[in-house]
Amino acid sequence: MNVPLLDLNAQYQNILPDIRLEIEKVFSTHAYKLGPQVAEFEKEIEKFCQVEHAVGCASGTDALILALLALGISEGDEVITSPFTFFATAGSIHRVGARPVFVDVDPQTYNIDPNKIEQSITSKTKAIMPVHLFGQCSDMESIMKIASNYNLNVIEDNAQGIGAKFNGKTAGTIGDIGTLSFFPSKNLGAMGDAGMCLTNNKQLADKMFQLRQHGENPQYYHRWVGLNSRLDTIQAAVLLVKLRSLQDWSEKRRQNAQYYYEHLNDTLSMQLPYIDERAESIFNQFTILADRRDELMHYLRKHDIGCAIYYPVPLHLQQCFSYLNHKKGDYPVSENLSDTVLSIPVYPELTTEQLAYVVKIIKKFYG
Ligand SMILES: *Cc1c(COP(=O)(O)O)cnc(C)c1O
Repeated sequence: MNVPLLDLNAQYQNILPDIRLEIEKVFSTHAYKLGPQVAEFEKEIEKFCQVEHAVGCASGTDALILALLALGISEGDEVITSPFTFFATAGSIHRVGARPVFVDVDPQTYNIDPNKIEQSITSKTKAIMPVHLFGQCSDMESIMKIASNYNLNVIEDNAQGIGAKFNGKTAGTIGDIGTLSFFPSKNLGAMGDAGMCLTNNKQLADKMFQLRQHGENPQYYHRWVGLNSRLDTIQAAVLLVKLRSLQDWSEKRRQNAQYYYEHLNDTLSMQLPYIDERAESIFNQFTILADRRDELMHYLRKHDIGCAIYYPVPLHLQQCFSYLNHKKGDYPVSENLSDTVLSIPVYPELTTEQLAYVVKIIKKFYG
């Protein structure tokens, strides 16, 4: 049996005909730049995420940069974020000239530890950027309290958490701005790159609509220096079709996670992902903490089971951030996660036979 980490072939099998039709529409109008599908998709995301404004852009990374620019964050400013995340989180902060200030994560949720945020706030801090890692929303209740006490903005890096909830609120709509990524392996993936900013603030939305087109308004008049970062019409067409299945896919991911919880809870050599009772995860990844992690990874691969380490190097130890003068030991929880995490298949199209096979091989490994 073969169980890949993600099976795009299975995902597209049923929806490809509809996607072809929607793309054909783009070919018939040649509206490749901000065609009608872009605004239509933005409207659908507003409904899905229960947010007032959605601003499409070229990638999840650009969405973070647009959010930072819209809030006026630049040189001399500090933004607090997690070191245990995909590179783009801190990369975007650096890219606008600001300084990423890392705060270690909670060992159970892998998300930024709200109890450690306050001690990292300085007079230069402008924003907190929590990451809703692997599909679980961060503790937004505590984060919003701190932000309000210190008058800070909150940008939610929600690239991995579309549709996730915290206290019944939709991830990405709780802070000032939330972002989405439609990178092909995200829960809602495009056939290429695409991203989005979410906000309930009309002024910020208007500014981001301009910033994604060189800060232009009206045409050829520029109040700000923005980016060339439009959401591609063809990608919007693809995403419009795929969004119809997203709720169903998220439910199947939750069911697959449930299977692991039921069948792996007696395996003492590994820790299953902990979900805060206030949170509803969409399981972008199912990430375990495993004894003898590297051996387990090779064992699974040898048995044709896809798995991956997200992420092997925490951001404070990346070479490009050496100017921040961090060293090993500065963020022990994140470092320990990097040494022990392993993501195993949880994608919606998994069959019960495949799930049972993954469980069997893991149990066989640990004897
Ligand atoms: C995927 C991802 C991004 C970047 O999204 P792209 O669309 O690939 O630019 C940012 N942050 C996190 C946490 C991600 O997982």
